Amino acid sequence: FDMFVLAFVERFFRPSYKKDDFLLGKKLGEGSFGVVYRVSLANKPSSKEGDLVLKKATEYGAVEIWMNERVRRACASSCADFVYGFLESSSKKSAEYWLIWRFEGDATLADLVQSREFPYNVETLILGEVQDLPKGLERENRIIQTIMRQILFALDGLHSTGIVHRDIKPQNIIFSEESRTFKIIDLGAATDLRVGINYIPKEFLLDPRYAAPEQYIMSTQTPSAPSVPVATALSPVLWQLNSPDRFDIYSAGLIFLQMAFPGLRTDNSLIQFNRQLKRCDYDIVAWRKTVEPRCGPELRRGFELLDLDGGIGWELLKSMVRYKARQRLSAKAALAHPYFDREGLLALSFMQ
Ligand code: ADP
Ligand code: MG
Repeated sequence: FDMFVLAFVERFFRPSYKKDDFLLGKKLGEGSFGVVYRVSLANKPSSKEGDLVLKKATEYGAVEIWMNERVRRACASSCADFVYGFLESSSKKSAEYWLIWRFEGDATLADLVQSREFPYNVETLILGEVQDLPKGLERENRIIQTIMRQILFALDGLHSTGIVHRDIKPQNIIFSEESRTFKIIDLGAATDLRVGINYIPKEFLLDPRYAAPEQYIMSTQTPSAPSVPVATALSPVLWQLNSPDRFDIYSAGLIFLQMAFPGLRTDNSLIQFNRQLKRCDYDIVAWRKTVEPRCGPELRRGFELLDLDGGIGWELLKSMVRYKARQRLSAKAALAHPYFDREGLLALSFMQ
């Protein structure tokens, strides 16, 4: 009961906005389900570029608002700071949902990974200064380890809340300049199994480059949940049976792979990797056996990085990128993996 009172009070005292309150700035992105702009408040254009982000979404915006509200109450640090969402129906076109977040920063993980400087550009962002240390595999491994820990930490928050993101990819991970950590964005394809929101998989929303082989989160035998948000005691059971959270773990594993292997960072090389892995029946050890003997320096470097410390990185990658969902580690178990035992980036900066 208290939860409802709190939710009501919070809703009542939080600022609410309407269309005319915003000044549109630069367009940040455009997908099939919405357009994203940098915006500022019309009555206080604080910075010239705007310190908020607006997404004008189609009908799926309703689910995205619901997910963001839930995240804010249950695991706020996992995702970009959500400010407000509302139905904007004053235009002549069909209704739009408007979603407002705080502007977290200029760079997504995709931007950062594409840079020639990666992963040192991330080290500078996280530590706030350029490190005067020799570059090398060991240092790169620590930076990648720190990024993976932050991604898994955010995922653990979402999964513990009962939310599966379903669209984890570098483009949907933003570097928050204020907290100096990576946060997850874009809950447009997310599903909340505990209350049956968006329960029926919208598989057409999934990005094939990062999607796990099961495609559907729940098996097709799973009975469809009520379309209205009714809490049900059934869903946690289904959660255990089908391990739907492990869909995100597979995607996070592919991000780990791309960070470790310079040769797999482009879209085309990732698509080619997916094809090769499928040909190996999703057995990543078999994939390694086929490519390693004849691979160039761009792939060899990845194997070398993952083989550091007795191959503990390769071991983690293997336990994330697996065909069977229930054989993949959970986010919590991955965080407890020995790969993360060694001190990360911060320790590195104290070593000098
Ligand atoms: P889409 O449905 O178009 O993929 P996203 O929610 O992923 O929508 O946002 C599109 C882009 O807008 C992101 O890739 C990112 O560059 C930028 N963006 C989204 N939210 C934020 C935010 N809170 N702060 C800064 N940039 C953001
Ligand atoms: Mg996106």
